[in-house]
Amino acid sequence: MKSIYDRVDTLKSVGPKRVQDLNQLGIETVEDLLLHFPFRYEDIQIRDLTEVLDQDKISLKGTILTDPVVSFYAGRKNRLSFRLGIGAQVINVVFFNQHYLKDKCQIGLEIAIYGKWEEKRQTLLGMKLLGTANQDTEFSAVYHTTKSMKQATLVKLIKQSFDDYKDVIEEVLPDEILDKYAFMDYMHAIENMHFPENQQSANEARRRMIYQELFFYQLKLNLLKYERHKTKTGSLKYDTNKLKAYIDTIPFSLTNAQKKVSNDICRDLLAPFDMNRLLQGDVGSGKTVVASIAIAACVFSGKQVAFMVPTEILAQQHYKTIQTLFQGTSIKIGLLTSSTTVKERKQMLLDVLNGQLDCLIGTHALIQEDIQFYELGLIIIDEQHRFGVMQRQKLNEKAIFQNVLYMTATPIPRTLSMTLFGEMDVSVIDELPAGRQKIITRWVKEQEMEKVLEFMKREIDKGYQAYMITPLIEESEALEDVQNAQKMYEYISEYFYEYSVGLLHGKMKADEKDDVMKRFKQNNIHILVSTTVIEVGVDVPNATIMVIQDAERFGLAQLHQLRGRVGRGDKQSYCILVANPKTEQGKQRMAIMVESQDGFYLSQKDLEMRGTGDIFGLKQSGIPDFSCADIIRDVHILNQARQDAMDIVHSQNPYIKNAYELLRKKTFDKIKL
Ligand code: ADP
Ligand code: MG
Repeated sequence: MKSIYDRVDTLKSVGPKRVQDLNQLGIETVEDLLLHFPFRYEDIQIRDLTEVLDQDKISLKGTILTDPVVSFYAGRKNRLSFRLGIGAQVINVVFFNQHYLKDKCQIGLEIAIYGKWEEKRQTLLGMKLLGTANQDTEFSAVYHTTKSMKQATLVKLIKQSFDDYKDVIEEVLPDEILDKYAFMDYMHAIENMHFPENQQSANEARRRMIYQELFFYQLKLNLLKYERHKTKTGSLKYDTNKLKAYIDTIPFSLTNAQKKVSNDICRDLLAPFDMNRLLQGDVGSGKTVVASIAIAACVFSGKQVAFMVPTEILAQQHYKTIQTLFQGTSIKIGLLTSSTTVKERKQMLLDVLNGQLDCLIGTHALIQEDIQFYELGLIIIDEQHRFGVMQRQKLNEKAIFQNVLYMTATPIPRTLSMTLFGEMDVSVIDELPAGRQKIITRWVKEQEMEKVLEFMKREIDKGYQAYMITPLIEESEALEDVQNAQKMYEYISEYFYEYSVGLLHGKMKADEKDDVMKRFKQNNIHILVSTTVIEVGVDVPNATIMVIQDAERFGLAQLHQLRGRVGRGDKQSYCILVANPKTEQGKQRMAIMVESQDGFYLSQKDLEMRGTGDIFGLKQSGIPDFSCADIIRDVHILNQARQDAMDIVHSQNPYIKNAYELLRKKTFDKIKL
């Protein structure tokens, strides 16, 4: 039976070569082809000159009145011009760098041209020669193409597949949704995406397709969440009195936010389904203590915990913090890093297997290494924004037990977090412990560097320490970035010759990095020059100055994270942004940083100003590349789609049955259901 999930080679006129060309565009099935939407439309309506405004893009039809003249200038550039008669009017037509059109523009010919109207000079700046076609209106789609797949071929194929398959295009959205938003049906939406009569019908079709993409995505996430809440495996029956006793030993009282999220977590652990919770909290909001409560709860139920962090430095830091917190308890924790000796390692793995060790802290390698636990009850993953939905799925597949707590210090705006983490439950620590000082933030120009250095000197003389951050442009720490850091290091070493200066960058070996960090923590290094490898979670309370070079090259969220490296003790701390931004937006961003210390506000601003791509490594996150939707621009539709998807899942709408079927077939994203 014919179905839109047929491979493209079932289409007549598509042979092996075409299949290859289509695959290159990501098109494998007829559905893919039908959903390969244009990115814009060309309005080539032939219009009456009297209606045309300056700078309008229009098509005009007329008679060529003069021989076309080509003139060359500035080497290879050229200009083709002639006069065109439209009724009683005469205008100029100019094409730049298309002198080859000369032969087609013979005097006396009737011709249609698409271009931009310049009122003052009565000139049409030609963009496209439409030939002598007789039709009076043409509104046509423009597609992304490749070298081997030309516009015309693609249009032909889409047209052919639509004509062949339109009878089997079934509706995919529930009726109530179609009614609620007065959407076109699916078949007509596809038709009007490709072959609309005018802009309005194209818009109507797009409105539906934007919703549809977001709706399916949200539906999938909500079904994942629903499935998880149905599984009856993960109940951890811990001893509440023991947990209370532990909490009483914590040397400060928890903030209300910490209490609330701890409750969320403990409730999840007790519940008969697997926890899959994201704990979001700004730097310094006290996530580690909350993690320790989760660990204690799990251990008091007789099970073990794996705690994974992105770097060794952090692993050590967490180990120390948690070790201290657990002093008064019987909980045994271990630290597994690359510097663990073979012998220690062997013993530790044995202890984990026998259940002698309650909690194992390490880098993400923990999950890759297939370490055997006696009885794993909880996995904690710190700084998880580096992981997307798909990575989380992989992880979940590996876990024996699936209580997972993710922690992130990246304040992700709600609008985005429900897209990124829609399949999880989310807890937010939205309050800092009392008595925290504001970090004084200043924006200075490069020319004022001397003053910055003097200021650093004064602070260091008081016994404090400083970070100096040099930019990192590439994900993978390019050579140039390392050189920048190196140069800055030499410069700073010379200026601060009486002090100890350290250097940290991503190209260094793990043990070299650890060594530098250790010495910085012990105040044996006064100034640490570093690329952004320092960014995540590092805690040196005695460091009070953060200087960020070329600050305009960082996103706000990232600047905020860097700034969070200082102000970790009770001393007044400073963040100095050194930047000569060239754009208005760059200046605005620096001003926002100076003015606000609210991570959620900053990341929302970041999102608005720079889009999603830059911030969270969305590309690897598993969020589908929506072809119509834009999760920032279409945030209202996203909210609506999410609510609709939730309603459908919660009410167990009969549509769900089809939905499973549909979502499994759909090729539009890679998240497995
Ligand atoms: P995060 O991991 O969220 O950045 P941490 O857990 O490292 O934050 O906590 C930052 C600092 O604040 C630590 O020194 C911690 O001991 C302290 N802290 C955490 N919670 C509280 C609290 N409720 N009251 C006082 N200090 C706290
Ligand atoms: Mg932390």
